[in-house]
Amino acid sequence: MKWYKKLHWQIIIGLVLGLIWGLIANFAGLNEFTSNYIKPVGTIFIKLLVLIAVPLVLVSLVTGVTSLNDTTKLSRMGGKTVGIYAITTIFAITIGLITVNIIQPGKTLPPETRDQLQETYSETISDRSESAMEVMDRGPLDFVVNIVPENLVNAASDNSNMLQIVFVAILLGIGIIQIGGKKAETLVNFFDALNDVVIRIVELIMLLAPYGVFALMASLLIDLAGDDLGKALELLYALGWYCLAVLIGLTIHVFVVYASLFKATSNMKLKTFFRAIQPAMLLGFSTSSSAATLPVTMERVEKNLGVEDEVASFVLPIGATVNMDGTSLYQAVAAVFIAQALGMDLTIVQQLTIVLTATAASIGAAGVPGAGIIMLVIVLESIQVPTAGIALILGVDRLLDMFRTMVNITGDAAVSVAVASTEGLLGEAHLDD
Ligand code: ASP
Repeated sequence: MKWYKKLHWQIIIGLVLGLIWGLIANFAGLNEFTSNYIKPVGTIFIKLLVLIAVPLVLVSLVTGVTSLNDTTKLSRMGGKTVGIYAITTIFAITIGLITVNIIQPGKTLPPETRDQLQETYSETISDRSESAMEVMDRGPLDFVVNIVPENLVNAASDNSNMLQIVFVAILLGIGIIQIGGKKAETLVNFFDALNDVVIRIVELIMLLAPYGVFALMASLLIDLAGDDLGKALELLYALGWYCLAVLIGLTIHVFVVYASLFKATSNMKLKTFFRAIQPAMLLGFSTSSSAATLPVTMERVEKNLGVEDEVASFVLPIGATVNMDGTSLYQAVAAVFIAQALGMDLTIVQQLTIVLTATAASIGAAGVPGAGIIMLVIVLESIQVPTAGIALILGVDRLLDMFRTMVNITGDAAVSVAVASTEGLLGEAHLDD
């Protein structure tokens, strides 16, 4: 196959051309044209992915559970999944804390810039604090209570209820296993066929990926730059060390933690892994949404990484909602950065508190753009750093969101490989494209 026909190259080309278009549009005054006629292509693309996510999770998980044929295996896999998710998240936060304490980006931020940033973004903060407070007001077990839906249609009507869908699918799968016989066989065949249909639809949607990514990047640049590209670049410069600390932390996490995870559980090479899931990573980067990327992550993990679908369809939807290594690492860096910039020295106890609260905050963050910064409020509150400090990092958050989302979905895929391998359900990787 010619290189430019390969999906990841097409997405990269779309991404680069989108950025170029965004720059040209800024200089040539084509911002309105881009927002009116190009941005909708990106919006439609994301909507299509989100549209297929619920049916995909439901159908593939029912197929997965029924093919396991054994509920003890299911609960063992569940325990493993949650355990590895928790461990990788704690590593991510620790790496974030070490990086930010070494680089100390908050100390290099000039006080004038700090005051200016606080003034510019102060209005936006209160909305975000309110959303986070709502989450904080919930009881400790509300998270578990919310996994059980009281109405099937309601659960399927809101994509942020992905765990409810997971719950229903497992229940349905167990029901089918337990009735057994001819009727069960009919249902298994039905879900199997439906699964193939949904996968085919994902493939069709992916035909739009290069154009969708082009449109997303073009409009992103316009949104980021606002009316003044020069000012946006100035902001990036002022917050350069902070961005660098986040990016260095994310890179270390991917190359050290996931590589070690593979060493410990399978003989998957990092290179093979990246080659197989590249399109999903690029899509995570351009959509900034784990939930929207889920259909593609599932497809790549099953088809290209060789993870059996009973594992992928179980581990990935849970991961897209609760496992966010990139987000938790970023929250640790951001919290310490804000404290440093405001002249507050955090004690060891406060930094350990970050490990706990950033874990909870990343679990609570939805897989949508900007969810991580809303949940950051919880982390800041826990260490008594003023939440108004979020104003300092808001201007570059959209950019960092792209990188942390990419790491979030990479983490989900890595854990699915680890779980599959230890369960003997990891086949050959297929790097056909
Ligand atoms: N955008 C991220 C995701 O979808 C969440 C975040 O804002 O950190 O995974």
